[in-house]
Amino acid sequence: MNYISTRTPDAEKRSAAYVIKTGLAPDGGLFVPESIPTLSKEDVESLIGMDYVSRATYILSLFLTDYTKEELKAAAEAAYSVEKFGGPAAPIARVGDDYFLELWHGPTSAFKDMALQIMPRLLSLSLGKTGETKDAYILVATSGDTGKAALEGYCDVDRVRIQVFYPVNGVSNIQKKQMASQKGNNVNVVSINGNFDDAQSGVKAIFADENARSALAEKGYFFSSANSINWGRLAPQIVYYISAYCDLVAEDELKYGELLDVTVPTGNFGNILAAYIAKKMGLPLGKLVCASNKNDILTDFINNGVYDKRREFFTTVSPSMDILISSNLERLLWFVLGADKTRECMESLNREGIYTLDNDAMEIIRADFAGYSCSEEETKKIISDIFEEYGYLCDTHTAVAANAAKQYKSAQGNKMLVVSTASPYKFAPAVLSSLGEEVPADDFDALDKLFAVTKCAIPANLASLRDAEVRFTKTVDPSDMIGSL
Ligand SMILES: *Cc1c(COP(=O)(O)O)cnc(C)c1O
Repeated sequence: MNYISTRTPDAEKRSAAYVIKTGLAPDGGLFVPESIPTLSKEDVESLIGMDYVSRATYILSLFLTDYTKEELKAAAEAAYSVEKFGGPAAPIARVGDDYFLELWHGPTSAFKDMALQIMPRLLSLSLGKTGETKDAYILVATSGDTGKAALEGYCDVDRVRIQVFYPVNGVSNIQKKQMASQKGNNVNVVSINGNFDDAQSGVKAIFADENARSALAEKGYFFSSANSINWGRLAPQIVYYISAYCDLVAEDELKYGELLDVTVPTGNFGNILAAYIAKKMGLPLGKLVCASNKNDILTDFINNGVYDKRREFFTTVSPSMDILISSNLERLLWFVLGADKTRECMESLNREGIYTLDNDAMEIIRADFAGYSCSEEETKKIISDIFEEYGYLCDTHTAVAANAAKQYKSAQGNKMLVVSTASPYKFAPAVLSSLGEEVPADDFDALDKLFAVTKCAIPANLASLRDAEVRFTKTVDPSDMIGSL
């Protein structure tokens, strides 16, 4: 299986190891598989008898053909172990008539773990496969969740170092403590006197700095990123849609062939794109419902065919979905329009902040996708509604999806899989206030209070955090970021 860029027709084909090592295509496009492997009824039936690790090994082997089955199995075993996930990697909870796919049982309690636990191992292997003599030096600018998930994923992975920058006053106390207490001999965490944009610009400046690059090369490293547009983060996300379908068939909730609708709380469009690829492989999925918060640019796009980022940016209680440029949408455009038109759209977005698709293209997109958004009040209301009615506690991002699933009524009456992307404890203050409770000033007190009110279990990694030893305390000015490497 080879990969091509979304922006240049007939561009050079690349191996999976190459695209995982490099991230972005040289023309600025994203890498996509040149064809989609198929998944027959017999394939799904044979997957039903397997555990998550074996399912992941099989599905990844269809896409990462230059990795051996043994390599993929070892990577999946290390990534999705019971020690890391405390049980099955992607369990399903029944909530009323719907199924909630819980993707947050990993070491940082957010769904980013599903990809960031395995991708570092794939990157480490890619160095050998591409004949790379230097080791990877990963730089991450984070506004919270990605930084911790990346640190945990890259921790003590062979031939990789990671350094994370976060805005000193721009993350919650829980997120700060999660990062500052990170274990591992190849990790470093530095806060900066500035906001997230300063951190991001600083990282970009380091990537572009010739002197920094050659100084690092002398020490035996090249710069790399843990960015969400890397195919190595997308491929592992296809696995849990197929795995969820298998589980529902195994439990007699679905008959093979029965269409399952899916609702995904969406930011960068990576998670829902993985569902689309699973559907293209032949998995019997129905509608893919794209759920947005008050930042409703994707809802507008799906309904009107206009992607217009010239709009107000809102900070919401579901911060991981506060985004105006959903990078992975470019991959969907490529599937529907091909490389020439995709490049035109991306150039238009860069130049004018907007692009428009014609009706034919939008009909193709709407055959697979529907889009809904919800307000802050609606997000909070559905958390308390679901808790009161079913005793099930969900986080603010999952709540946005639950609201969209409710707005979308399947004409065929398909069953609905709601994708749950974070533990409610990760966003304890907002969840507490949704339940009508007073919110303590200290985040750790909010955790304890949420437990006292709901009696839902606190994930072990968050429960032990208050007393975790702090290892990293350095704060630098944005201009000194290079000096901190
Ligand atoms: C990253 C994230 C999302 C958005 O996922 P995308 O793949 O960027 O669309 C949703 N919920 C949570 C909790 C996240 O961390």
